[in-house]
Amino acid sequence: MSLVKLDPATIILMSTLMAVAMCVVLFAAQRSFPSTVQGLREWVFGMLGLVVSSVLFGLRDMVPPCILLPVANSVFLCGAGMLLIGTQRFYGVRPAWHLFHGVWLLGLLVMLCWLYLWPDFAMRVTMFSLLMLVLNATQFLVIARHGERHVSTLFFGMLTLVQSLSVLHRAISALQDGGAGSDILHGGPYHSLYLAVTAFMTLLLPVGFMTVATRRLQSLLEQRSNRDPLTAVLNRRGFAAWHARESARRPLALMSIDLDFFKAINDRHGHAMGDRVLVDVAGVISGALRERDAVARFGGEEFVVLLPDASPARAELVARRIQDALRQPRPDPALPKYTLSIGIACQASHDETLDSLLLRSDLALYRAKQLGRDRIEVAQPELAQLKHRQHICQN
Ligand code: GH3
Ligand code: MG
Ligand code: MG
Repeated sequence: MSLVKLDPATIILMSTLMAVAMCVVLFAAQRSFPSTVQGLREWVFGMLGLVVSSVLFGLRDMVPPCILLPVANSVFLCGAGMLLIGTQRFYGVRPAWHLFHGVWLLGLLVMLCWLYLWPDFAMRVTMFSLLMLVLNATQFLVIARHGERHVSTLFFGMLTLVQSLSVLHRAISALQDGGAGSDILHGGPYHSLYLAVTAFMTLLLPVGFMTVATRRLQSLLEQRSNRDPLTAVLNRRGFAAWHARESARRPLALMSIDLDFFKAINDRHGHAMGDRVLVDVAGVISGALRERDAVARFGGEEFVVLLPDASPARAELVARRIQDALRQPRPDPALPKYTLSIGIACQASHDETLDSLLLRSDLALYRAKQLGRDRIEVAQPELAQLKHRQHICQN
């Protein structure tokens, strides 16, 4: 194994340089990612902690070990603790600051006790490795519990698991051999291997975190480009993508929904209240739908609903459920009362395009407005057949 023959000092130097490079990468990401991707700042500080401790270990010929070892090891534990805090913040878990402070303080105590009171190298290595195990295993559990089902989570989780097993192995072997081969710089081949794994992890762990952070960014951007920022329902673009997926599979029913006299609500209660009404409308419509239905805001106070596999009777039932919900006492009494007009069109044939379906549901909506608002109108299928026939004649 040529890896084992690598000079330990060179491995430490290389891993320190890698940690510096990863600090720069994480810092750049922290500056450019939206603030909703949390945890990057803590990862920068964590990696900086690892770099500083590595530099401190490098000063072992200049500073007496009784000062250097407790300080460098505590800084190392602070760095590793910050990585855990960063991961917790990333997943929206409350940061375990008590664990963070407990671990580095215990690390300091361990070093002082088994360095001054009962000098014992093996105990120092074992205790230090167990403290690292607590941090790594907690991080693994956070990822396993809160990570989304995606290959990036698997990669990041596997890395923290390998790191946990590596420190556990080091703790056990230090106990078994009495610390004889545990000295990182002068130990046997297994400890050189441990050193190499740890050094490689210095690079891989931040890469793992960047992988899940990038995945989060991708989902966020996808969501932003497909969703209406005010109401969080789909926008036109998201709606078109959703329709393209669903229309190939089964016939659709479509609802055009428009708020009645919304301009008057804005004029009377202000634009901000108007916005709250729009958010409320989106909530009421979403509450009446199944998982596979979709609702979109097409701008202003117009919403469109797609119901896959829905008969005209079912579409009418959903529309009635929406209107009934508005007649019940509302959870927010500050909201002004409002009504909706709804036009329904059901796909007459598989060839009917979204434009034709929209046109028919809009005509039905127009009729609902004409007939006094706060009502439901269903589009005539004949219009679709007529348009389809015209299309065939033209071609
Ligand atoms: P009708 O019953 O015929 O639909 O009348 P209406 O007043 O609802 O329709 P109209 O088209 O006359 O007015 C729509 C209003 O919606 C005008 C516009 O100021 C308001 N509006 C459009 N977008 C927004 C928005 O994002 N927020 C708020 N608060 N108002 C909006
Ligand atoms: Mg309106
Ligand atoms: Mg309108």
